[in-house]
Amino acid sequence: MSGQTVNTGSEQLYEQLQREMAVLIKINNLTGFLPVKLDNLLSAIIKEIDNIFFPYKCELHLITEGRLETCCTYIKDDCCKALNDQLPLTLEQGERLCCEAEFCANCYQFHVCVPLIAGVDKLGVVTLKSKQKTEFHRDSMELLLAVVSQIAATIQRARLFSRLAQEKANLEKANTEINQLNQELQKSIEQLNKAQEQLVISERLAAAGQLSANLAHEINNPIGVILSRLEWLLLEAEENSLPDQVIEDMQIMVKHTERIARTTKGLLSFSRQTVDCMSPLDLNTMIIETTDWLRSQFLSKNIQLDLKLASNAWVLGNPGQLEQVLVNLLNNAKDAIVEGGEISICSKVDLDQKMVQVEVSDSGTGISDEIKNRIFDPFFTTKEKGVGTGLGLSISYGILENHGGSLKVESELGKGSCFSLLLPLFIEAKAGDAS
Ligand code: ADP
Repeated sequence: MSGQTVNTGSEQLYEQLQREMAVLIKINNLTGFLPVKLDNLLSAIIKEIDNIFFPYKCELHLITEGRLETCCTYIKDDCCKALNDQLPLTLEQGERLCCEAEFCANCYQFHVCVPLIAGVDKLGVVTLKSKQKTEFHRDSMELLLAVVSQIAATIQRARLFSRLAQEKANLEKANTEINQLNQELQKSIEQLNKAQEQLVISERLAAAGQLSANLAHEINNPIGVILSRLEWLLLEAEENSLPDQVIEDMQIMVKHTERIARTTKGLLSFSRQTVDCMSPLDLNTMIIETTDWLRSQFLSKNIQLDLKLASNAWVLGNPGQLEQVLVNLLNNAKDAIVEGGEISICSKVDLDQKMVQVEVSDSGTGISDEIKNRIFDPFFTTKEKGVGTGLGLSISYGILENHGGSLKVESELGKGSCFSLLLPLFIEAKAGDAS
């Protein structure tokens, strides 16, 4: 009989141990799932504790910002004896409760309070309370301590995870900001480089302009005299029926002298510093008129012309000079195309920047990087002798600068070029036009 009692007792103990082991394994598995939502994880663990320590009811009170979140007694954490002493407490009814609460004292027969501590960090307390008088054995306390230490480690790990995630987010934010700053810096450097390039071109052109002005004045007058005398001599030679060879030679002399005269005229307009006769004009009208009389030249080379014009491209400028710029750009575009291809002119009005942009693009030869920064130099030409003077772009550049605008080029060898000219928008003219 007594042997049976012993057996039943050890079986019960064995079952109890098995249940406790199962709970420990389950809690261990649960805590291995980090990072998950800590609240859910803790509720699952509390449920397990409730099961194993029945009829005790488990509560978890965490310290946030130095205070116990919700204490079993709703009083301050520094009154919690278990937490202060960092030792577990087991109290029976009648004894002073660890938290000195009337409510607990009246409702619960037994009260176990275990501090949650990880290293030197006090995290909170785990309490077990029972309304029935149920003894809390030493074994149970050991099991509870093991579970509580697992909870403490889990909370600490979860907090570390969330701190890490926060740090990671901060780092990513800082990284994005650094990248943005870097991009802005890169943009500023590019703008600065472009401005510097423009400045170098402007300075070179100013020096060349000065030189050309002096030279052109010196050459222009004697060339005028030579040309008129030559034309007169040619007439005389023809009237006096001089040999054909002499007349032919004189015609060649006239032709080349005229070329010199054209060049000096170009030099003079390049060196002209002021823009006189400014008037409001619609660039679109100018583009349409200019392309109309150049169209036959484009057709002879089988070149398609495409116009995309934004309305009200009003600027204040010298019509003759701006037309000269357009003709220069269109002639260059035509020369860059061997046979067949496309030239397009696109005007845009930027009301925010108060600028008008005209892009002249061609599907021609393109410009190599080696010569791209020399094409605005006076007398730079890659065209055959007698075809190019090398003054078109430098004159255009100067004209646009004098109008408060600019001329830029983008080009890819073998694909084509795009010259874009910018001029300040003339707003009053636009309003006047509307009225
Ligand atoms: P020119 O036309 O008399 O040569 P420019 O100053 O107008 O003088 O042009 C200088 C040089 O720039 C040209 O000889 C040519 O090499 C280059 N160029 C200008 N426009 C273009 C273009 N659209 N496509 C290719 N090269 C061009």
